[in-house]
Order: sequence, then structure tokens, then C-alpha cells
Amino acid sequence: MLLTITTTHNPATDLGYLLHKNPSRLQTFEQTFGSAHVFYPAVSAEKCTAALLLEVDPIGLVRGKREQRTLEQYVNDRPFVASSFLSVAIGQIFRSAMSGKSESHHELAETEIPLEAKISVLHCRGGEDFLRQLFEPLGYEIEAQNYQLDEQFPEWGASNYFTVTLTATKKLRDLLTHLYVLIPVLDNEKHYFVGDEEVEKLLRRGEGWLAAHPMREIIARRYLKNRHSLAREALSRLMQEEITELADLKSESLEEVLEKTISLNEQRYQAVMTALKSVDAKRIVDVGCGEGKLLRHLLAEKSFTEIVGLDVSHRALEIAAEKLRLERLPDFQRERIKLLHGSLTYRDARLAGYDAACAVEVIEHLDAARLSAFERVLFEFARPKTVVVTTPNSEYNAKFENLPAGKFRHADHRFEWTRIEFQNWANKVSEKFAYSVNFESVGEVDEHLGSPTQMAVFQDKI
Ligand code: SAH
Repeated sequence: MLLTITTTHNPATDLGYLLHKNPSRLQTFEQTFGSAHVFYPAVSAEKCTAALLLEVDPIGLVRGKREQRTLEQYVNDRPFVASSFLSVAIGQIFRSAMSGKSESHHELAETEIPLEAKISVLHCRGGEDFLRQLFEPLGYEIEAQNYQLDEQFPEWGASNYFTVTLTATKKLRDLLTHLYVLIPVLDNEKHYFVGDEEVEKLLRRGEGWLAAHPMREIIARRYLKNRHSLAREALSRLMQEEITELADLKSESLEEVLEKTISLNEQRYQAVMTALKSVDAKRIVDVGCGEGKLLRHLLAEKSFTEIVGLDVSHRALEIAAEKLRLERLPDFQRERIKLLHGSLTYRDARLAGYDAACAVEVIEHLDAARLSAFERVLFEFARPKTVVVTTPNSEYNAKFENLPAGKFRHADHRFEWTRIEFQNWANKVSEKFAYSVNFESVGEVDEHLGSPTQMAVFQDKI
């Protein structure tokens, strides 16, 4: 398993100072899993490459262990793929570089320089799409060369093994940190016990980028080896802001609220994403985008070529821009997304002509009297081919023990509808504006009460 890091920042040989490893000699470090070698296959002022080669010894790993042996412990892909062993090696061998420490080249350590990391090979559970969803939001250009399962049997198809090249202009410490956190996430197999200290590690290494990453939930979950209580803790600390809001609900213990909310929110966005992908939408407008949670998901999906978020709240848009780190997105990502200030109750030419519009948990914030204006603005004037609307199902409120009967889930809600009320509204809208409509449940479905969120997907019939 080989990782190479190349820079063309002149003089490129400074890479040796940043990594604290002398380019003129080979160094070997004994590790618990085998050995790691650092050497420089290319050294010049124009271009310098450092290599970290891991020799994983699968037999050494099981030696002395009491548990029952399986063939897989001896014969496996560990020696060949980048796994959490690579993170361990980066953490030890490039510790100072990853912390951004360099006595002699402090300024360079804080400078973004052209970098290329090549990993041979990565086992991407989740495939190339997942790989892209992890690294693209961080501004990397990705080249992934895939391998067939067996060249002699092409009909077996592609494997999940890739040689991956990541290119970006970044601080070296950021590149190392991203690799350190995300490689085990891709591999999804950890070879050591995951305890509380891993949460601290994730938070420390995730500082400044993980909270805003569209895949932060999956990253935390997989990094913490699907130990849900730990992942929850990490996420809760990452999302202090959101928790403060949730704490206002006071209805259940914070943890329970958080767990449910994360999964319901997440399921809602996933349901919307699935609906958008199934109609092959490319240009999407998220109306009432709020702080941009759906936008974050949309950005991570490369098939969406143009993404627009609209909201009436300036503050929400400011937060969205901050959370999405719009300022820092690379040009090719920055060009895909636009935030607009505007109200859904006034006709707006900027909304016309999109493949799809989403209104996620928005209609219940509109006064009943303004709802008909919203219907015309969206279905008559903007007229996207597809419209996805979600709203709470008020029947399900009976399951929220501490929500008094007749109360809404949120103080700003003007109404909450039963399934029939929502369907009546959606059917009426479809008829009036020549759309067809289908309904879906989002979240756990109660036999009598339905699901916590209800969703309607409208299709233009014209
Ligand atoms: N869709 C987001 C936010 C839902 S909260 C999410 O899923 O997280 C409802 C949002 O609708 C708020 O951000 C609010 O500012 C916005 N909103 C309410 N009335 C609006 C109007 N008339 N025009 C545009 N946005 C509106």
C-alpha cells in the first residue's frame, strides 16, 4: 500500500521540511501492524514527491491472539489497501506535519500549496460516488482508476478497488488530516478498539471542516465504527448550534431528541434526494432553503448541475453561506450554487424554468391566506417539471409524549395537517395547475398514525 504526496510549489524540496523527513534518505518505522517506509522517488526544485509505503503483516497481526482463527485473518486485502493502518502511520510518522508544526518553515506550513496525493489502492465501500461525495466538498479534484474483480472474467464486473489521485491547493496539514479521517471511513473497517478517545480524535481532526461537510453524519458513524452512541456524541458536539435549538423542545432527553431528529431530518433529505434523482432532475431550486441543510446534500451529488437556494430570511441565508463555506469552494463547485433572497409569496422570474423545486418543511410556515399566493408563484409562474413538498403529519404528533394535544411542533408553524388534509390540498393544487401527484411517507410509519413527515411529489403534466 503506497501513498505519495507531490508538490510543485517552488522550491518543491521544502516538502521535506514540512514533513520533517529528509529527502536524501530512506527511513523505516516499525509499526504494530508491520513496517512503514518513507522515501522520496522524485526530488527537484520544480517537483518533489514523498512516498509512504506500508508493509502490513497480516500474519503478525493475528499472532498471539486467542480468538478463533479464520482463513480471512491470514488471507485478506489488508497488505494492499489503504485502511486505518494508513491513518495510524500518518498520525505517527507525519504527526508534526499534520499539526501544522514546522519550526524552520512555519509560514509555508500555513500556506496553501499545490498538492497531489495518490493512493494505491483504496477500497471504497460505497464505490466511486461515495469517494467523490467525501472529497469533492473539500475542494479536491479526483481521479479514480477502477480495477476489475478479475481481468480474466470481465463479466464479473468492477471491484471497489481504486487507485485514487486527489489534487488541490491546500495546506499540507489539511491534506493529511482529510486523509487521516476519511480513509478509514472509505474502508469502513477499523482494526483497533474504538473508544471514547476516538470521539476526541475525530473532533480534533475534524475541526474547521467536518461540521460543514455534507456527509458529516456518515463520516462520524463510520469513523466511530458504527458505535452509535459515540457517533451521536460526536455529532452533537459538532452541531452545538442545532442542539441549542433542539433543547428548546425540552420534551425528551436531549440525546433522544437528537437521535430522532438527526435520523428524521436525514431521512427527509434522503427521500427528497431520491425523488429528485428518480426524475433525473439536474437544475434544482430549494425554496425556503433555510440554513441550507438540503443544499449541502444537493451539492454533494454531482448529477445536480445547478442549485439555487431561496429564502425570505437574510440571516438564514448568511448562515447557509457560512455553513456551506461558499467563499472557500473551488470555482467549479462555487459556480453550481446560488443563494437568492426572496419571498415565495411574490412572483419571481428568477425561479422560472428549473427541473425541480423542493419546499422542505416550508408550507406550514406560511399563513393560510398566503398559501394560495405560494401555489401560484410556484406551480403557475415558476412551473418546475417536478415539485417536492414535505410537511409534518399532525396525526403523528400523538406519539410525541410531551407535546400537548393541539400544539404544533414548532412555534412558527401556522398549521399542521393530517394526511387527508395534505392530500386534499395537494390534489386540489395538481388539478388546478395541471400536475399529477404521488404521496410518500418519510420516517417510521405507525400503523394508525402514519409517518412523522409526509411528502408529495408533483409532476408537470403539460
Ligand atoms: N427547508 C429548510 C428550512 C425549513 S424552515 C430545511 O429543511 O431545513 C422554513 C423556512 O422557510 C425558513 O427558513 C423560512 O425563513 C422560510 N420561509 C418562510 N416563509 C417564507 C417565504 N414567504 N418565502 C421564502 N421563504 C420563507
